[in-house]
Amino acid sequence: MQNESLDKLILVILDGCRYDTALEQLGFLNHLIEHKQGRLFQVRAEMPSNSRPLYEVLMTGVPTYQNKIYSNLSCQRSEHVSLFDLVTQAGGKTSAAAYFWFSELYNQAPYNIKTDRMQNDPSRLIQQGIFYSDDTYPDSHLFADAHYLLNSYQPDFMVVHSMNIDDTGHKYTATSKEYQGAVNRADLLLAESLPDWIAKGYQVIVTADHGMDGFGLHGGSLEGHRKVPFYLFSKKSQLISSEELSQLEIAPLCSFLLGIAPAETMKDIQHLWEE
Ligand SMILES: [Zn+2]
Repeated sequence: MQNESLDKLILVILDGCRYDTALEQLGFLNHLIEHKQGRLFQVRAEMPSNSRPLYEVLMTGVPTYQNKIYSNLSCQRSEHVSLFDLVTQAGGKTSAAAYFWFSELYNQAPYNIKTDRMQNDPSRLIQQGIFYSDDTYPDSHLFADAHYLLNSYQPDFMVVHSMNIDDTGHKYTATSKEYQGAVNRADLLLAESLPDWIAKGYQVIVTADHGMDGFGLHGGSLEGHRKVPFYLFSKKSQLISSEELSQLEIAPLCSFLLGIAPAETMKDIQHLWEE
């Protein structure tokens, strides 16, 4: 069943991109914000501010103590209703160009690079996926993977998840020219992609799972760990009166943008449109 009423959405997750660096280095995105082509919100990441727990938070809206993805070592399928569930149940199509932990959470754990790198199976939650398992997999190639999925399968919901910012932050710290450069390069890739996606009728979110600190770490409670950007390019963005979002509100906000009902386990976000 194909549901023609879904409003298409691409969710870009820049792994490890902190809020202040996004403001300083994502020049193309901030240009669009300056000219009111989109909205920028501050998000407070959940804890632990680590990738795998927060992928699950972003996809399900369920906090870590309940979703059981307690750490980056939690190699298991998600037990909660995710955006991939909601879209496929509504008859929509899902894709992801993402780190292999997405395949483990929503398709199959553990990941086997020989069988799971390229996936095309409409019975899975992520129906078409191109997954990588090396943190140095170039963001340029990741975005090319996303273009391939978009043009080949026209997904209603696609996750595009890059790792070079996080990888560079761990190696050189968030105060390094290398980390700033990795965010700066992501902006170039977004400038090459975003107008095309919007022209194809997609709403686009650009956010991060967590940030990075001056020691090259995340996981804890520092502002640098938890404060991340949330750029929204959608005609519906003007409906939101709040300037800040909890990370638990992102999954129900995505379902609102997609035009489908949120899962019962997702937070009520009615207050976002009221002052
Ligand atoms: Zn990391």
